[in-house]
Amino acid sequence: MNTEVLVDSSAKRTQAPAKPLFPFLDLKAQFRTIRSEVLGAMEAVMDSQHFILGPEVERLEKQLESFTGAKFAISCASGSDALLLALMALGVGRDDEVITTPFTFGATGGAIVRLGARPVFVDIDPRTYNIDPATVAKAITRKTKAIIPVHLFGLMSDMEAIMAVASQNRIPVVEDAAQSLGSTYQGRQAGTFGDAGCFSFFPSKNLGCAGDGGLLCSNREDLAKELRGLRVHGAPKKYHYEMIGINSRLDALQAAILRVKLPHLNKWSEARRENARHYRALFEKYDLLKAVQLPVEPEGYTHVYNQFSIRVKKRDALRNHLQRCGVPTEIYYPYPLHLEPAYGLLGHREGDMPVSEAACREVISLPIYPELTAEQLETVVSAIAAFYASSELKGE
Ligand SMILES: *Cc1c(COP(=O)(O)O)cnc(C)c1O
Repeated sequence: MNTEVLVDSSAKRTQAPAKPLFPFLDLKAQFRTIRSEVLGAMEAVMDSQHFILGPEVERLEKQLESFTGAKFAISCASGSDALLLALMALGVGRDDEVITTPFTFGATGGAIVRLGARPVFVDIDPRTYNIDPATVAKAITRKTKAIIPVHLFGLMSDMEAIMAVASQNRIPVVEDAAQSLGSTYQGRQAGTFGDAGCFSFFPSKNLGCAGDGGLLCSNREDLAKELRGLRVHGAPKKYHYEMIGINSRLDALQAAILRVKLPHLNKWSEARRENARHYRALFEKYDLLKAVQLPVEPEGYTHVYNQFSIRVKKRDALRNHLQRCGVPTEIYYPYPLHLEPAYGLLGHREGDMPVSEAACREVISLPIYPELTAEQLETVVSAIAAFYASSELKGE
């Protein structure tokens, strides 16, 4: 009887999820380094009592123009709104088709459907997880009104191939760069290749504000003008409604906070890249390169690692094991959009987009934020090594 109790309790101890040893994303660690600057900037806005758009927002937009190299930067209320506004400015509406990837956050597809248009999902590249330009070319019809490549996890899509397909067919491109501010392809910033680029300042993005915020970039003056009108009810001049718009503006408080953080962004991205290099060395050291597919950074691209996402077999068992070890992970994304109930009308079935569906079963994201220590990275990889060592012992 005694031994039974002992066996029972020890079994329970190994099964119960442990408290995470450190957070998946530690925003407090970053805040500690800029606390007084942020609070000072917020205080100045409070003293000004100017809360919506205004000089603080204009200064931020100028700084983002020089950061991205885009001719025009237009802030708005969220990354989701940036996508919606871009499609509105391009005149996307009922019965139009917009080509995009199903391996993305819900906002990408949602913006299309909210305008009465039809998302045409196409499959992704199995190594980069980004939209496959060859599948884009095949999906173009007379109704195609836009293409939305998503620069997932911090790595840009193959914009050369996508822009070639788009310009051959005279179809505008809207980049969903919500996860990729600062990422480059052939030396050029994310969000500056297409007709419009959309960014998010959601707190978990590489440049996050203290709530919701978003940005549009464009090199087209006509689009920039349209976007500046659309975000204020379609009235670029107060009460002069030139079009039907929405209310989607950035708050001065958010702009002030972002103005404190923007000068640190390149350093933070470099710290994420350094962590990624360290992870790669550790995966090699623990002899895991066969068990784990690491993120790729093809020649000519700069990955800014909003996520460090690896691909494995037995993903869910690995995740449970890591949870028991106190190692935090996330799944981006557990389901591809084309199989979600909200897109049921499209009539897709399992198997329609096999690469995206497999990614949803096999991809798992590890902590990668700038403030992680070398010991924490080692804790993550050694816990993964322990999982594969024990499943080999069991002959799995
Ligand atoms: C975060 C995100 C969005 C939406 O941004 P919000 O600011 O949260 O509205 C859109 N697309 C992708 C790929 C994202 O990661």
